[in-house]
Amino acid sequence: MSESIKTVCPYCGVGCGLTVSPPAGTGRSTHRDGEGNPIWKTIGDKSHPSSQGMVCVKGATITESIDKSRLKYPMIRDSLSEPFRRVSWDEAFNKIVDRIQFVRQNYGADGICMYGSGQFQTEDYYIAQKLLKGCLGINNFDANSRLCMSSAVAGYMQSFGSDGPPCCYEDLELTDCAFLIGTNTAECHPIVFNRLRKYHKKHQHVKMIVVDPRCTKTAEVADLHLAIKPGTDIDLLNGIAHLLMRWNAIDTLFMDECTKGFPAYAEVIRHYPPETVARRCGIRIDHLEQAARYWADSERVLSLWSMGMNQSSEGTAKVRTLINLHLMTGNVGKPGTGPFSLTGQPNAMGGREAGGLAHILPGYRTVKNPQHRAEIEQFWGLNPGQISPIPGRDAWNQIVGLETGEVGLLWIAATNPAVSMPDLVRTKAALLKSPFTVYQDAYYPTETSAYAHILLPAAQWGEKTGTMTNSERVVTFCPQFRSPPGEARPDWEIFAEVGRRLGFTREFNFANATAVHTEFTQITRGRLCDMTGISHEKLAEFGPIQWPCPDTALLQEDESTSRMGIFSFLFSHRDKDKNITHIGKRLYTNLRFKTNDGRAIFAAYHSKGLAEPPNNEYPFVLTVGRLYGHWHTQTRTGRIEKIVKMHPHPFMEIHPRDAAKLKIAEGDLVELRSRRGKARFPAKITKAIAPHTVFVPMHWGALWSNDAEANLLTHHEACPTSLQPELKACAVQILAVSAL
Ligand code: SF4
Repeated sequence: MSESIKTVCPYCGVGCGLTVSPPAGTGRSTHRDGEGNPIWKTIGDKSHPSSQGMVCVKGATITESIDKSRLKYPMIRDSLSEPFRRVSWDEAFNKIVDRIQFVRQNYGADGICMYGSGQFQTEDYYIAQKLLKGCLGINNFDANSRLCMSSAVAGYMQSFGSDGPPCCYEDLELTDCAFLIGTNTAECHPIVFNRLRKYHKKHQHVKMIVVDPRCTKTAEVADLHLAIKPGTDIDLLNGIAHLLMRWNAIDTLFMDECTKGFPAYAEVIRHYPPETVARRCGIRIDHLEQAARYWADSERVLSLWSMGMNQSSEGTAKVRTLINLHLMTGNVGKPGTGPFSLTGQPNAMGGREAGGLAHILPGYRTVKNPQHRAEIEQFWGLNPGQISPIPGRDAWNQIVGLETGEVGLLWIAATNPAVSMPDLVRTKAALLKSPFTVYQDAYYPTETSAYAHILLPAAQWGEKTGTMTNSERVVTFCPQFRSPPGEARPDWEIFAEVGRRLGFTREFNFANATAVHTEFTQITRGRLCDMTGISHEKLAEFGPIQWPCPDTALLQEDESTSRMGIFSFLFSHRDKDKNITHIGKRLYTNLRFKTNDGRAIFAAYHSKGLAEPPNNEYPFVLTVGRLYGHWHTQTRTGRIEKIVKMHPHPFMEIHPRDAAKLKIAEGDLVELRSRRGKARFPAKITKAIAPHTVFVPMHWGALWSNDAEANLLTHHEACPTSLQPELKACAVQILAVSAL
């Protein structure tokens, strides 16, 4: 390839556009990585609507990792104590197919599990879950998105009647007040933050509130930082609602016309007066009042959140309680407003669209809904009843299935659970017990490859063609621009080949990724995430497209009798040149929601606090998070020199008062112990972290650190609705290693 190509960054859910150029020549001056491979040049794509030419250090260095430590050939071993031996694809496929048949006969279909990834392209997701849910009749397809944003999915579904972030990035530049809760946007979604920060700096009237136990880089520039105690988010949100009620700063017309359930919610928030809330949250009353005042005085409020809300044993309740604030103030469906969840993975949104979790089906359908199952069965040409009505094993329950001996085949793809799952002591023991693990990835070794019986080499970003959807529902085409190394193949092709060898030749008869995408978009017809107007060809020709985007023949304006229905008209437009009709940049602009009666639903939750609160034995709350340069388990970024120099080692942040009490000095090695495990970190003493709380980054696994794995400490207690584990907080004790 001699021309540059446009694609999307495969790291985070911001979804920045990239322009990638081939290595210039092969002379000595060519920029090469440490292994001598010429490096492709990456810059921001100025024409991409989401990022407008901006990229962070991860996007700018992505191509430096793509040739390093690659898995190139299928490999097999009979037991974990043996070395791998290279085999042909044919032998690897036969082994997997034999095992699937064995497990179906001896364990039942529930014995087969697949654990995928928000790194998948939508085409990979679609084929993987079609194999499990459609052909094998078991919904045991889950993804690492379960650890990332399943509480946001559940919150949207229950409050609005459907999943789907209703906002767009343009809202960052149209709001009067940005309310950021449980998100270190400056480090974890840097380009979203750049857009917000520029606008905030330029417009004095615009307020930024940041709610976080740490004074992060995001909080540093806020007008108001509320350093609440971990686990008190619902107290805070109900406390703000209490004051808005008291001041009558609510939109009764909106609530009357567009919502239901307010009386029960009003009864709950009655119990959250400012004195009580400030005490529980550990913040000043005037700060709480200031936050409520910003909400009350702002015409347009936009909320952003990510893991700090989602990774919680009351994650769905937190999300819905935040949505309540938007409903009571009419801050939804209009420019500059709305509850906006930021996705972690680059294509977690594509997974949601394609049915990439154990309880959902493609096109924002659910396995529990009989009509949804019937629609998919008909579309796939299956017999009625072939899709199970029972949600499959979520991420943690796949681990439990290994422990109990009920899972006989675990297929892991494009993710590294031996670092990212909670309670790693238990997770690793379960993986060791697995009778048969297939590990499909681009890189080798990873922490998880140590637990595999079969390794399948996957083509990664740039080596296969597909699409990804970012947090604002913008779909970007990701064309192949280089050959995969060795015998690596696209994930979807691997799943499809197994499907054909199992006898599902018609179901997996795809000539290429474009054919997969075409089938996938047809399955979204008429749904909120209608993408029938999007195709590989249109994306390649015209650039990124936001959904909903039905094909033009089927477009129907959703007229509303509501007084606010005008927004639907104002923000719908037809792009004649592209022959694409967008419904609008935002969802619910007509203020009719996807519930049975079109009304959004208030939720009434009292705060339950942490699943594992601190006590005398474990007196500190550990919270974990990400750093600006690293990505998740470092499979890529740990191999990029610039990023490793930026973040050379893990650490534990501790408040000076706590450090003094424990006689810990800067840089001292400390041991954190939880009820499950222990890990060691050098201490970093800083007022950025609240007293009685400590922070460690979650990027270091066994390959990159000596006992500094954060998830050795965390627990798996999860939100009962979203099943998202509370990775964000657990109780620990701290010991100076010198005293041990
Ligand atoms: Fe990539 Fe996210 Fe950085 Fe954008 S903000 S360049 S999508 S990692």
